[in-house]
Amino acid sequence: MLVLFKENISLRPYNTFHIDVSAKRFVTIRTLEDIQGIIKKGHILRRTLVIGGGSNILFTQDYPGLVVYNRIGGITLFKEEGDKVILDVGSGVTWDRFVQYCVDHGYYGAENLSYIPGTVGAAPIQNIGAYGAQVSDIILSITGVDFRTGTKRIFLREDCDFGYRRSIFQLAPDTYLNTSVRFRLSTQPTLNTSYPALANELKKIKNPGPEDVRNAVIRIRRRKLPDPEQRGNAGSFFKNPFVEHSLWESLIKEFPEMPYHKYEDDKFKIPAAWLIEQCGWKGKQRGQCATWPSQPLVIVNLGKATGEEILDFARDIQKSVKKRFNILLAPEVRIV
Ligand SMILES: Cc1cc2nc3c(=O)[nH]c(=O)nc-3n(C[C@H](O)[C@H](O)[C@H](O)COP(=O)(O)OP(=O)(O)OC[C@H]3O[C@@H](n4cnc5c(N)ncnc54)[C@H](O)[C@@H]3O)c2cc1C
Repeated sequence: MLVLFKENISLRPYNTFHIDVSAKRFVTIRTLEDIQGIIKKGHILRRTLVIGGGSNILFTQDYPGLVVYNRIGGITLFKEEGDKVILDVGSGVTWDRFVQYCVDHGYYGAENLSYIPGTVGAAPIQNIGAYGAQVSDIILSITGVDFRTGTKRIFLREDCDFGYRRSIFQLAPDTYLNTSVRFRLSTQPTLNTSYPALANELKKIKNPGPEDVRNAVIRIRRRKLPDPEQRGNAGSFFKNPFVEHSLWESLIKEFPEMPYHKYEDDKFKIPAAWLIEQCGWKGKQRGQCATWPSQPLVIVNLGKATGEEILDFARDIQKSVKKRFNILLAPEVRIV
């Protein structure tokens, strides 16, 4: 199919922060052949950025290169193996449409990740996670196309170095375009309801199924998080930090009420939202930027904020937390 290049177009409709910057060149792709054709004809620029839902990006300036807007679709059943099904999913499929598809077909494993914005192809980039699950739990492999050569490469899950909001793809961004993701799901009821808020939401339901879990997750998320259509945002702006035993020990003496989760390697995960709240940033507004009152980890655009204003606001939060707790919060959002 013919792909159409556009020049100097606004990226406002393509990012959930609703930042009004422009892209020098912009192209929408719908198939693997589209992207291979673009590469073959030498259209890839030195700066090329793939976007899906634009729900994990903060644009701070006009993009001086090519933006590839990925709409590669399709969900196909590759095979069934006993009580497992293997699905191949186009990277431009909306993530939550895929979760709904799984629930509709009685496939278990994706339901805890309901209602996360964005596309299937971006899900492995930061290994999306929520309510005790992460996408790496159900990924078998990812097919990507190398921008420089146009060659296809299959990344097995073991190759991806998945961790908390981490994958190999973050080491060399803008090198591969993921074209499809292969998932393994279960047809047997195997629910993961260990996460306290989810367990609480489900307690009135006898023998919940994946649809009940999905609905419960959606209810919690709607209560807690701003709808990007109403208030521009990209979900959690920072990652939850992991600290060493020695720092944790000195902090817990000073702040005995500090929540934390201990990991096997003697590292301690501390909720970034708690750290931010302790520094007085919960519900705080400055100009067109604010933290969300029920979840201060989310920074919102009240309407006309620029990417730079949001970044300044985030940096000031970072400085406060560093000063008070000696912890440097790392952004979860990609800053472009
Ligand atoms: C309200 C809200 C709630 C959120 N909640 C969660 C949550 O609970 N858990 C969580 O983990 N995240 C959450 N997020 C963040 C976001 O939804 C995820 O990171 C999502 O996977 C981003 O998908 P996207 O298609 O929008 O990616 P984009 O923002 O378009 O891109 C993100 C990055 O991935 C790259 N990329 C995108 N597509 C491809 C591709 N096909 N191939 C190669 N690289 C690609 C981009 O270049 C960029 O570096 C939330 C965001 C919002 C707005």
